[in-house]
Amino acid sequence: MPLACLPIDTFAALGGDALTDDSVAVPVGEEQGLPSTFVPGRNLIFLTFAAAYAYQRNIEHLVTGVAQTDYSGYPDCRERTIDALQKAIRLGMESDLHIHTPLMFLSKRETVELARDLGALHAMALTHTCYNGRRPPCGECAACRLRAKGFAEAGVEDPLSSAR
Ligand SMILES: [Zn+2]
Repeated sequence: MPLACLPIDTFAALGGDALTDDSVAVPVGEEQGLPSTFVPGRNLIFLTFAAAYAYQRNIEHLVTGVAQTDYSGYPDCRERTIDALQKAIRLGMESDLHIHTPLMFLSKRETVELARDLGALHAMALTHTCYNGRRPPCGECAACRLRAKGFAEAGVEDPLSSAR
């Protein structure tokens, strides 16, 4: 199946968070409570769009990389949120859609090790983590630091860093 990209740029119009609003700075250090990088409803919208796409093509399985183990306090990365969303989508679309979350209870280190063990490290060079939207990544934001920590703990070089 070819790669499909859907335009979902409405979050920029909503603003109010560090990832979609240029007037809100991306934090460098830890924050109390929900971080300013939290985009309300982001994963709910992404998965609902993916479910609508899947519905039109008789696809019954979605896979998402959310993880509550290392989550930054994002409630839409938690298992109970995904379970509730799957239930809502099944009801709202009268479908048997399954949302798979293979990384839900893995640390970043375990995620890197899983990719390595599957022979899929090269695919991680195609992933995007940086909260500042930089490629190669800034290496300073919380997401870059968390990613670097996971690769360091796994003893694996990040293919995204070596692609600089
Ligand atoms: Zn970064």
